[in-house]
Amino acid sequence: MAGYDYDLFIIGAGSGAVRAGRIAARYGARVGVCENYRVGGTCVVRGCIPKKLLVYASHFAEDFEDAVSYGWSGLAPTHDWATLIANKNKEIDRLNGIYIRLLNNAGVEIIEGTGKLIDAHTVNVGDKTVTAERILVATGGWPIMPDISGIELAISSNEAFELPERRERVVIVGGGYIALEFSGIFNGLGSHVTQLYRRDHILRGFDDDVRRMMGDEIRKKGIDLRLNTNVTLIEKSDAGLKITLTTGDVIEADAIMYATGRSPNTSGIGLEDVGVELDDDGAIKVDEWSRTNIESIYAVGDVTNRLNLTPVALNEGLCFAETVYGGNPRKMDHADVPWAVFSQPAVSGVGLTEAEARAEFGDIDIYRAKFRALRHTLSGRDEQTMTKLIVDAATDRVLGAHMIGPDAPEIIQGIAVAIKMKATKAQLDSTIGIHPTAAEEFVTMREKIEPEKAAAE
Ligand code: NDP
Repeated sequence: MAGYDYDLFIIGAGSGAVRAGRIAARYGARVGVCENYRVGGTCVVRGCIPKKLLVYASHFAEDFEDAVSYGWSGLAPTHDWATLIANKNKEIDRLNGIYIRLLNNAGVEIIEGTGKLIDAHTVNVGDKTVTAERILVATGGWPIMPDISGIELAISSNEAFELPERRERVVIVGGGYIALEFSGIFNGLGSHVTQLYRRDHILRGFDDDVRRMMGDEIRKKGIDLRLNTNVTLIEKSDAGLKITLTTGDVIEADAIMYATGRSPNTSGIGLEDVGVELDDDGAIKVDEWSRTNIESIYAVGDVTNRLNLTPVALNEGLCFAETVYGGNPRKMDHADVPWAVFSQPAVSGVGLTEAEARAEFGDIDIYRAKFRALRHTLSGRDEQTMTKLIVDAATDRVLGAHMIGPDAPEIIQGIAVAIKMKATKAQLDSTIGIHPTAAEEFVTMREKIEPEKAAAE
C-alpha cells in the first residue's frame, strides 16, 4: 500500500515468520523482517535441529554396546564433545544460510536488530524506523529460570548447546520436553545425570501410562531420576557446584541445567505502548486468524503460546499469509496435532490421553501392548516399547494414540493421518501390519485392557 515502507513487516525471523514472509512476498507483498540473533529462530539455531543431532550422537553409545551381541567386536570408541559441537554448528550455519537465501530469493528484506513497536504501523530497529500496513510479531519464546538463590550459576538449553566441553556430572531440573531430551543426551554421551522433578510423575499432561513408564525407562538407562524434588540453593564449591535439594540432600555437580518451561518474548518490544493485549502468561492474545486486538498487528508461533511446536508456527504463518495476501482464508486447526519427545526411548502421541478421553467421552476402550523390541532379543537390553490406543466405545472412533519406543516419532506421524481422518478401530484392524516392526502393533492390538488393570499397572 502506498504510503508505507512495507506491506508487511515481521518482528523475528524464526520458522513461522519466514514461512509467512515468503508466502506473502510470493503474493506480491513488499515484506521486511528484523531479527536480533540469527535467521532461523529457535528450531534451527538452538532447538529442534541441533537437539536432534545431539540425540543421534548420544544414541551411538547404546548402539555400540548392543552391536557386541550381533557379533561385532573391537569396538572401544571414545567420544569427542568438541567435534560434535563444531559439526553441529557447521550444520546450523548451513541452515542459517539457507534461510537467509530463501528470504532473499523471495525478495524479503532482512534488517538486523531488535524490532520495537512505536505505533500500530511503525517499528523501530536500531537506528532505522520503518512503517508497514501490517505488522506480524513472531518473536518466539525464551527459557524460564526460576528465581532461586544461585540461579546465575545454572544454564538453560541455550548454553547447553554451546558448552565447550562435556560436563561429567549434570543435574537437570524439570520433567518436560527439554528436560527429558537433554537428560538422555548427556546420559548417552557418558555424563552422570541426576534429573529432578517437582511432582510425582514426569511429563505432566501426557497419558498416565506414558508418564509412569517413561520414569522407569529413563532410570533403566542410568539416569538418577528424583521425583518430588526441587532445588533450594545452588552454590559454587571446590569441586564444581553444590546443589541443595528440597529433600535436604546436597549433591555435587559440574553443571545444572534448567528446563523449566519457556515464556513468550513479549517484553521490551513496545507491545504495551501500542496496546497489544497479553494474557496472564505474557503471551500475545490472538483470535483464530492470528489477529491481535490491534487491527494491523498479527502474531504467530511461540509468542502466542498456543501449541509451541515448529510445525504449528509454520502453519500459523502459512494461514496468516494465505488469508491476508493470498485471498484464500485459512485457519490453523490446533486439534489432533501430533507431538514427540526425542528422549531415549522416544515418546510420541496424537489426540486425547486416556484421562482426557474418559472425561470427554465417558465410555472408552483401551488397547495397549508392551513388549521388548526384536532388536533387544539379542542385545538383552531391558527396554520396553509401548503402543496404546484410546477408542470411543460408542462410535469406535480412535481418539488417541500414544507410543514409547525408538521410532515412536516416525511411527506416530502416520497414525496421526488416520486420527485426523477420524479413523475407527475397525479400520485400523483392517489394515495389514508390516512384520516385524513395532508399528504393526497399532493395527494388531485386539484385547481391550480392563480399566482396573490399566490403573494398577
Ligand atoms: P515444559 O513445559 O515441557 O516442561 C517444563 C518442566 O519444568 C515441567 O516438568 C515443569 O513442572 C517444570 N517446572 C516448571 N517450573 C518449575 C520450577 N520453578 N521448578 C522446578 N520445575 C519447574 O517446558 P520445556 O522447557 O521442556 O519446553 C518448552 C516447550 O517447548 C514445550 O512445552 C514444547 O512446547 C516445546 N518443545 C518441544 C519439543 C519437541 O517438540 N520435541 C522439544 C523441546 C521443546 P510441572 O509439570 O510441575 O509444571
